[in-house]
Amino acid sequence: MMTKRVYTFGNGRAEGKATMRNLLGGKGANLAEMNLIGVPVPPGFTITTDVCSEYFELGKEKVVSILKEDVEVAIKGVETLMNSKFGYEGNPLLVSVRSGARASMPGMMDTILNLGLNDAVVEGLTRKTGNPRFVWDSYRRFVQMYGDVVLGMKPVNKNDIDPFEEIIESIKKEKGVKLDTELSVDDLKKLVVFFKAAVKKQTGKDFPDNSYDQLWGAICAVFDSWMNERAILYRKMEGIPAEWGTAVTVQAMVFGNMGDTSATGVCFSRDAATGEDMFMGEYLINAQGEDVVAGIRTPQQITIEGSKRWAVLAGISEEDRFAKYPSMEEAMPTIYKELNSIQAKLENHYRDMQDMEFTVQEGKLWFLQTRNGKRTGAAMVKIAIDMLHQGMIDEKTAVLRIEPNKLDELLHPVFDKKAIKEAKVIAKGLAASPGAASGKIVFNADDAAEWAKRGEKVIMVRIETSPEDLAGMAAAQGILTARGGMTSHAAVVARGMGKCCVSGAGALKIDYATKTIEVNGFSLKEGDAISLNGSTGDIYQGAVGTKEAEVDADFAELMSLANKYTRMTVRTNADTPKDAEIARKFGATGIGLCRTEHMFFEGEKIKAMREMILAEDTEGRRIALAKILPYQKADFKGIFKAMHDMPVTIRLLDPPLHEFVPHEEKEQAELAKTMGISLKKIQQRVNDLHEANPMLGHRGCRLGNTYPEITEMQTRAILSAALELQEEGITAIPEIMVPLTGILYEFLEQEKIIRQTAEELFAETNSRIEYKVGTMIEIPRAALTANRIASAAEFFSFGTNDLTQMTFGYSRDDIASFLPTYLEKKILKVDPFQVLDQKGVGQLIQMATEKGRSVRPDLKCGICGEHGGEPSSVEFCHRVGLDYVSCSPFRVPIARIAAAQAALR
Ligand code: ADP
Ligand code: MG
Ligand code: MG
Repeated sequence: MMTKRVYTFGNGRAEGKATMRNLLGGKGANLAEMNLIGVPVPPGFTITTDVCSEYFELGKEKVVSILKEDVEVAIKGVETLMNSKFGYEGNPLLVSVRSGARASMPGMMDTILNLGLNDAVVEGLTRKTGNPRFVWDSYRRFVQMYGDVVLGMKPVNKNDIDPFEEIIESIKKEKGVKLDTELSVDDLKKLVVFFKAAVKKQTGKDFPDNSYDQLWGAICAVFDSWMNERAILYRKMEGIPAEWGTAVTVQAMVFGNMGDTSATGVCFSRDAATGEDMFMGEYLINAQGEDVVAGIRTPQQITIEGSKRWAVLAGISEEDRFAKYPSMEEAMPTIYKELNSIQAKLENHYRDMQDMEFTVQEGKLWFLQTRNGKRTGAAMVKIAIDMLHQGMIDEKTAVLRIEPNKLDELLHPVFDKKAIKEAKVIAKGLAASPGAASGKIVFNADDAAEWAKRGEKVIMVRIETSPEDLAGMAAAQGILTARGGMTSHAAVVARGMGKCCVSGAGALKIDYATKTIEVNGFSLKEGDAISLNGSTGDIYQGAVGTKEAEVDADFAELMSLANKYTRMTVRTNADTPKDAEIARKFGATGIGLCRTEHMFFEGEKIKAMREMILAEDTEGRRIALAKILPYQKADFKGIFKAMHDMPVTIRLLDPPLHEFVPHEEKEQAELAKTMGISLKKIQQRVNDLHEANPMLGHRGCRLGNTYPEITEMQTRAILSAALELQEEGITAIPEIMVPLTGILYEFLEQEKIIRQTAEELFAETNSRIEYKVGTMIEIPRAALTANRIASAAEFFSFGTNDLTQMTFGYSRDDIASFLPTYLEKKILKVDPFQVLDQKGVGQLIQMATEKGRSVRPDLKCGICGEHGGEPSSVEFCHRVGLDYVSCSPFRVPIARIAAAQAALR
């Protein structure tokens, strides 16, 4: 069979259709579809994306010869429908040459309008239309676009000036006018002459006169534009493969620049920012193509309602608005009516919000494009739920319409829209944790806590953060660091807290001693106000007003739909009652990971903890642990209470010990005094504890097995908290989790201590409570021997942060030294600490789940790494049959939607 390379459309017929977007590109497929459903579209044809691949394989000449006949036949078809002739002076057909990929890449590739004009055709067209202004306006636009796109006149360097723009500016200056529309026909003619001279000067060749030469040049240029810098960058950002290629659509021109009954515009079937079900858009009278978005003239609103709202924001009186910037509804009521009914028809046909482009030529409306519109997170939710209520889509579709990650925008505070426009960006860092925050600068955790206590809003600025900064981070509105990437301590903790964080802002020169920051020529000091946008990484001078995120009824409805269709449940990683409550509000059904080490960091607790660590023998440790026990019990009570009736998985202590001990002499001396030993002894012990690679060191159950009294104390704290609540009539469901198991016997040792302690406690209190003992699977050996471990462990929780670290042999803390290069060279597609590595780490998860269930069919399996809130990882967890995912509180809604979508797909 012969390959079909060209698909025609026009006059209510089309060889393509909407579902053929892979072959025809989004634009070409929808132009065909619009024809089929009776929307007025200028006729034309689309060359397939496969030809784009051929183009890069076989080269220009070969592809042109392959296409020649098909294209000439297709042009004949358009000529017949338009009753005109390509390149014929008497009655010329002009075309546009447009690009269109599978995924929408707005403005990334090039379009050429008014193709087919030359000096002779211009004369003919003037005679035919009697409108020399229009003709010469079209001609000068064509020469400029063709020069830029096809003949390479567009400046390569950002700072260079487009030679054509330079010419336009000089003529405008000469005439003393500002707008293109103020140029006379003679000026426009002059432009064409100068433009062509510039082409000749720069390229050494004459501007092509022959229409077919022009056409082939343009078609090839569109293919070439697939590989331009802008397009490559955009594909990289959006993850669009280069193999997809672009289609080329050649289409009869319709003209919005024929006078005051002509216009061009862009419109949306609903508000893309808020989701409000209101038709909206912008148009310009007597204009062409991109004029509306180019910002040369102020576009007018399409609807009266939109126009009135616009005038209020722009500070324009109603009289002025009506006189100078009337809506299309007012200025062209008949056209408006037709436009409005077609937009509704298109939305109804595609069952999604449409983003459309149209042109009006002398009172006749033409559609040039439609596609599903890009939208904000808020609009995404509102449109899905509204369309469900309007009976346009069903529940499953509504759930599948959601881009889970976009929900993030809805869950965090945002800047006041007006205030942010006037704010000044002083530097940029990484968008480490989303949201908006503003406050006064403080430089350490103590100050943050203190200032916050007296009611100040603060931003904690650090070179980098460590676990000791936790209390300060909790008290601050936002966190800013000069060092550290997306997985730095600051970033991970801030995301967990749902707190705004900008990390790795390298331009900041922070001086703790003088409490000042030097940045890009600015100097800031303690107490100065700054603002952070954790979703973009922007750092602003001064306090920019913020607004709390509001979770509305639409959101709630969406979440209940997610519940209806999901198989997996979603738990949360929470270490405090407050986090637990937030997560519960977002729909968490339990705690999948409660890290006990985070409970030791504040005030008196850390002192007792340090005593425990630095103790030289069991006796000393027991004394210190006895001090900690009541604190732990109180903490657990708080969490159980917040999570009543839901399971709470508590991980036994898993700290790199050295993080807890004081490293400054002053603190060491204090501790020496409390413990009644010499400073030297303390220092010696701190030295002893130093580990070359603490990530692989004395941690997890290795600690519990060498110091069993810690496990005893924690078990006591957990179960006595649960027992006391039982007395009060509150149901706690404790699941005690042993960290870092690699060997069955490690687990058995810990289990023995836990069960013994429990029995002792039950005997003492003369009561009992149900509890489970399970383990984290975070060491490859544990996954490999999962059937053995499951013979004793009652549940598995995959700790994918450590499992990733140990499977790859990467240390999470140092990965920044090579990860960027690996990503750039595509050795790694994504950061495996953010997106689960399904092939390697995922294989271990799948295998461990299967092996575990082979000996314990009802083994509950979940995941509690950072991956538990990442949509593609959640989908994987569903596929391999995990029971739940657990993630930070603010990612719970994202995981819930991702889990439901996985079940629906
Ligand atoms: P993009 O992909 O950048 O949106 P388009 O191919 O949609 O590029 O072209 C940009 C604009 O050019 C369109 O919005 C439309 O206004 C104008 N345009 C394209 N083809 C035609 C045509 N055949 N007649 C009139 N205007 C056109
Ligand atoms: Mg377009
Ligand atoms: Mg771990």
